[in-house]
Amino acid sequence: MAKEQQASRAVLRSVDPGNSAMCAHCGAPVKFVARAQKKQVIANVYVKGSWDRVEHFHDDCYEEANEPFGPIGE
Ligand SMILES: [Zn+2]
Repeated sequence: MAKEQQASRAVLRSVDPGNSAMCAHCGAPVKFVARAQKKQVIANVYVKGSWDRVEHFHDDCYEEANEPFGPIGE
């Protein structure tokens, strides 16, 4: 039986203080803002069935980019 191929997937997470990732869509930092309850999308990107990298997006940027790594999961 063939090994199951892993696919890229995206999840929604809160933005923590000290978060320093850059948004892969707009290039701006995904920053923690006190009291703003910011969310970010974290995508685990698989290339040819193997994990390749993690990309971060602002939640609205991910939608604007047409969900490049699939619908947002939990
Ligand atoms: Zn962005």
